[in-house]
Amino acid sequence: MITVKDLRKSFGEAEILKGIDISIEAGEVVVVIGPSGSGKSTFLRCINLLEQPSGGEILFENESITARGHNINATREKMGMVFQHFNLFPHKTIIQNLTLAPTKVKGLSTANAEKTALKLLHTVGLADKKDCYPSQLSGGQQQRIAIARALAMQPHVMLFDEPTSALDPEMVGEVLDVMKKLAKGGMTMIIVTHEMGFAREVGDRIVFMDKGVIVEEGTPEQVFGNPSNTRTKDFLAKVL
Ligand code: ADP
Ligand code: MG
Repeated sequence: MITVKDLRKSFGEAEILKGIDISIEAGEVVVVIGPSGSGKSTFLRCINLLEQPSGGEILFENESITARGHNINATREKMGMVFQHFNLFPHKTIIQNLTLAPTKVKGLSTANAEKTALKLLHTVGLADKKDCYPSQLSGGQQQRIAIARALAMQPHVMLFDEPTSALDPEMVGEVLDVMKKLAKGGMTMIIVTHEMGFAREVGDRIVFMDKGVIVEEGTPEQVFGNPSNTRTKDFLAKVL
């Protein structure tokens, strides 16, 4: 579904991504771990072109999305992204948050968009909150809404950038549960997280990044159980 070839990204003089190569299959759940500042967010943001890569190529569904003249908006519609901070529209109700993009961007009728939105609210267990405003919800609930909002665009892949890092500990589980459900349903997912238990349980593949490169990747058993690289070992020793 996604092929990344020698992806590079510099900010000014600093090269943050130094040649990333990875392929992601449809239905695969790839979990990216690594120290703060290693380029994980930049990598995700390059995939949906929130950052313009400085070099290399990204293919999405067999189409080069980094090629000149490529329609970025059409690609972004197929990639859902969930951030650490939920960024819901504060002056819109939950249901309006979920129907806005499908009606404005995809041209769905309000009735159609609401039907899909309600289904998704059931999926994330928050159908009863449809007429609330974001501020009336807990952080965990808001993040579940942010996931539902991304899903409302019927993306082909979901990108998660530390979706539970800003949450109080008691709310982490409910968000991870929604993500587990998505993974079980066959959604293609790239997830940056520090939740190692979750990574081990849900990841088909674990990718360890450090200093702008992929240092090691493999199954959860390989990377957590028997890491081959010293940098991976050092990192895991600190977080496990
Ligand atoms: P991670 O998500 O692994 O913590 P990031 O991708 O956020 O890492 O950042 C990697 C490095 O890139 C950091 O040193 C950060 O300061 C730098 N960086 C990220 N975004 C920008 C930007 N827009 N301008 C300049 N430097 C940036
Ligand atoms: Mg980050």
